[in-house]
Amino acid sequence: MGKIILTGDRPTGKLHVGHYVGSLRRRVELQNSGQFDDIFIMIADAQALTDNADNPEKVRQNIIEVALDYLACGLDPEKSTLFIQSQIPELCELSFYYMNLVTVSRLQRNPTVKSEIQMRNFEASIPVGFFTYPISQAADITAFKATTVPVGEDQLPMLEQTKEIVRKFNSVYGEALVEPEILLPDNKACLRLPGTDGKAKMSKSLGNCIYLSEEPEEIQKKVFSMFTDPTHIKVTDPGKLEGNTVFTYLDAFCKDEYFGEFLPDYNNLQELKDHYTRGGLGDMKVKRFLNNVLQAELEPIRNRRKEYQKDIPYVYDVLKKGSEKAEAVAAQTLKEVKEAMKINYFDDHELIQSQAERFS
Ligand code: ATP
Ligand code: MG
Repeated sequence: MGKIILTGDRPTGKLHVGHYVGSLRRRVELQNSGQFDDIFIMIADAQALTDNADNPEKVRQNIIEVALDYLACGLDPEKSTLFIQSQIPELCELSFYYMNLVTVSRLQRNPTVKSEIQMRNFEASIPVGFFTYPISQAADITAFKATTVPVGEDQLPMLEQTKEIVRKFNSVYGEALVEPEILLPDNKACLRLPGTDGKAKMSKSLGNCIYLSEEPEEIQKKVFSMFTDPTHIKVTDPGKLEGNTVFTYLDAFCKDEYFGEFLPDYNNLQELKDHYTRGGLGDMKVKRFLNNVLQAELEPIRNRRKEYQKDIPYVYDVLKKGSEKAEAVAAQTLKEVKEAMKINYFDDHELIQSQAERFS
């Protein structure tokens, strides 16, 4: 059996550096590794509508933003299938059947959904679609027989839910679905990159993001006003690294060669950290270094994005072709699912024959 990737993003805004270190950077590496038979990258507009039902224009506008970010980061339509979730109706059909395999209490236990409900003030009025999105995610993953799902840590409960559905389906109806594995970033700082405000997660919905397409002045402004260690007041004070967003970002982005280029007094990040915790190193110096690192990382992405922005019809065409290919694959899986569930009445000659005999 081949190795297949499925992953994606909700078109609720432009992509940010949290997406980049949590999943996007890895996707591009995996794409270029040549180790995968198929790579499906989905813009999850139907999922985005589950908590933006009254704002479809937001979702519609952001599809192109996400697609541009994909291409800018190096996802290559020749190697990866980029597609739009809502264009694959088979996904809804799969979700509908999977719903019978999951209990309400199981959905209620999902910690990511729990915290997202809180964040959106949905407590008293959770849309059913939002509540069940982990099931639709299982449909997305299994429709493409994905073996590998590279995502950030917040997706762990979704993958667990998917695996449970796969096991249940296969045990009830016979082996038709493939059980996927989550691929988390191996760098701890990238599992769940905090926002510039130091809050738990950089998230489009929280407005604490540095976007991949951000202009240099904006990046600098955001880095300079970043959350650090509130007890590190004088330069001579010893500083703390834990919960210090500037250092978390350095953990996520810094390469040793950046020291030679931007901060030659140190050889590597450990030396900089040691100086900070000893005392005698000011926040501004570290922030200036982080700014240089981020500028170096984001400049090529921003420039490539500007090139693709010149040919928007091409980008929509990439998504259209990708959606056509994705639909063909999902349709084949749905066919197999219906065969396994024995709801393929008209293709089942044995059924027709045996019913004919029964009534003869
Ligand atoms: P929303 O607020 O609309 O949910 P989001 O910023 O959480 O948006 P998603 O589209 O839900 O982004 O997530 C897309 C992918 O990026 C997922 O794989 C998710 O795990 C990953 N991701 C999102 N935010 C972060 C983060 N701060 N750090 C690491 N990975 C992240
Ligand atoms: Mg999210």
